[in-house]
Amino acid sequence: MKYDYLIVGSGLFGSIFAYEMNKIGKKCLVIEKRDHIGGNIYTEKQENINVHKYGAHIFHTSDKRVWEYINEFTEFNNFINSPVAVYKDKMYNLPFNMNTFYQMWGVKTPEEAINKIEEQKKEANITEPKNLEEQAISLVGPDIYTKLIKGYTEKQWGKDCTELPAFIIKRLPVRLTFDNNYFNDRYQGIPLDGYTKIIEKMLEGIDVKLETDFFDDREHWENIAEKIVFTGMIDQYYDYEFGQLEYRGLKFETETIDMENYQGNAVINYTEREIPYTRIIEHKHFEGSESPKTIVTKEYPATWKPGDEAYYPVNNDKNNETYAKYEEKAAKEENVIFGGRLGTYKYYDMWKIIDEALDSVEKEIQTIN
Ligand code: FAD
Ligand code: UDP
Repeated sequence: MKYDYLIVGSGLFGSIFAYEMNKIGKKCLVIEKRDHIGGNIYTEKQENINVHKYGAHIFHTSDKRVWEYINEFTEFNNFINSPVAVYKDKMYNLPFNMNTFYQMWGVKTPEEAINKIEEQKKEANITEPKNLEEQAISLVGPDIYTKLIKGYTEKQWGKDCTELPAFIIKRLPVRLTFDNNYFNDRYQGIPLDGYTKIIEKMLEGIDVKLETDFFDDREHWENIAEKIVFTGMIDQYYDYEFGQLEYRGLKFETETIDMENYQGNAVINYTEREIPYTRIIEHKHFEGSESPKTIVTKEYPATWKPGDEAYYPVNNDKNNETYAKYEEKAAKEENVIFGGRLGTYKYYDMWKIIDEALDSVEKEIQTIN
């Protein structure tokens, strides 16, 4: 065997694993089917602006270990994500906070907002929320659900809100303060020099083969290393033995515009069902980049089919049950480690991927010692 580890995928998970194993003298080969490293956090500099090629990526965490770890590879700026939502002819602050409640109902104090939400919830009469729709209504009432959640969520996931799990909407804070910070986390920011630089540092001195898909020559890759770290789709790895898992796709439409400031904010969400994209990103506002031009990306949710890039796992009960069968099989593997968003079929943010990768490395080091 030429390598100790074959790492399939050069995203955050694969790159951390490779970096940590290389550090202790293990020989790693990373293969990546795209023509660049970094997976979905990849950024590319154009017009002096770091463009987030696969959608807005804002780093946030409350985990000190994760924050200190990632700071070994980059410094962060002080960006705070404060998206604005557009519904018909009005704009609303996100996440759901006193600004949103004022814009929606004209209420000026937390007490007035609580009374309004309670009054709305009473009418809806939900005791135990069983799906995303019920969860959303029991958090903020039907007005906000109808204007800011239902349309956005149904186009994002391609499903009715009653068919989606409640946890998805619990990602967003609801607060009774005038605070537009989208996250509750202690640490937040954008890497000063783009995300790609982080991955370049991690993979320095490690063999990387781009435009190389594991499945194009599986037998060859299975015999090149003692162990495999697999961060692609777990159902594909097992040849869909227990059935296909469902994913959500995305299409990005990016354009350079000859003006300095297009929308005045990094992220603007379009919550109406009729508008086909979910959000417009204006990349320069993540970093306050100086440029006479601006670059914007419209994000269109899309039906996923085999061969497309899988952006989101669809973690409803049916898919989670199928995944549990793959997971059980994966747990019995002695020489294959599954990781990352696709390898473990989890809707994980970057911080959680780092956390999981570090745990996985620790476990592997214990196993080999
Ligand atoms: P990936 O980045 O998907 O990397 C997997 C890599 O494996 C890819 O490069 C892929 O090409 C490669 N690969 C797959 N199969 C094969 C194969 N068969 N052969 C060879 N290579 C293969 N997180 C945040 O914390 N904040 C955010 O603001 C945020 N915004 C997001 C916005 C969008 C639109 C999306 C889709 C995700 C967002 N995330 C965000 C989540 C973040 O992207 C992930 O947590 C992180 O990138 C996952 O890293 P990973 O290594 O698991 O997967
Ligand atoms: N969401 C919504 N309206 C918005 C923004 C988000 O209803 O304006 C819901 C939607 O269901 C989405 C979920 O909240 O899938 C989580 O949003 P987040 O911004 O965390 O999604 P991501 O950045 O992962 O796509």
